[in-house]
Amino acid sequence: MPLPYNRCQPNNEPSVYKWLRALHWWLLPGHCLLCDLGSGRDFDLCALCEADLPWIQVACPRCAVPLPSPAPGCARCLRRPPAFACTRAPMAYQGAVASLVPRWKKGELPALQRVLVGLLAARVAPAAAEVDLLVPVPLHRRRRAQRGFNQAQELALGLGAELGLPVLTRPVLRTRDTRSQQGLNAAARRRNLRGAFRVDADLSGCHVAVVDDVVTTGATAEALAVAVLRAGAQRVEVWAVARTPRPQA
Ligand SMILES: [Zn+2]
Ligand SMILES: [Zn+2]
Repeated sequence: MPLPYNRCQPNNEPSVYKWLRALHWWLLPGHCLLCDLGSGRDFDLCALCEADLPWIQVACPRCAVPLPSPAPGCARCLRRPPAFACTRAPMAYQGAVASLVPRWKKGELPALQRVLVGLLAARVAPAAAEVDLLVPVPLHRRRRAQRGFNQAQELALGLGAELGLPVLTRPVLRTRDTRSQQGLNAAARRRNLRGAFRVDADLSGCHVAVVDDVVTTGATAEALAVAVLRAGAQRVEVWAVARTPRPQA
């Protein structure tokens, strides 16, 4: 059954693009966005700075919150399992990540977007074969008009191009301009977001990855996962660059 999504990523990238990309890196070698030195590779982050990023070593498999030791889930997910099956968010939202992500959200530096897409793509690639399509968290049209940029959508389009996955954008709507989530606890965030998303597409049987820049409490991903499951999806997981640690976790 055809799905009404934008199949906008070249699965088989024409060789001329590969050649142009190689030429680009040959003419303009990689420059590390963090230490300001040559990166020594075709990526604008050097290997040492990449290794120093706040990678999460042990996490809740459902919501990716950092945990002190391996467990089937964090206390919150065990008490109230989320609608999504798992979360892949490889870095903690702290240190260098907490300075890079806000710069990216302000629309600074296209190189920063390529780096964030590359870091996440490398970590989710093993799971990509099990995913049929990506659904970025949409902004309300008013917010989108103000900002002119939806970072979750840009991230999903970059991942889709890297991993050869289609991205569903227009049929996924944020129907309410929810008030800012800052300062709200998890329960208040859930109430604030209830019914905020609508998916006007038949996703019967699809395995979907919801894409967001940062997972803070998981309430946004939960609300969108519920809407995606209502549209018929069989399984939803969440992909994000970073996860905010819980103070007590
Ligand atoms: Zn560096
Ligand atoms: Zn959890």
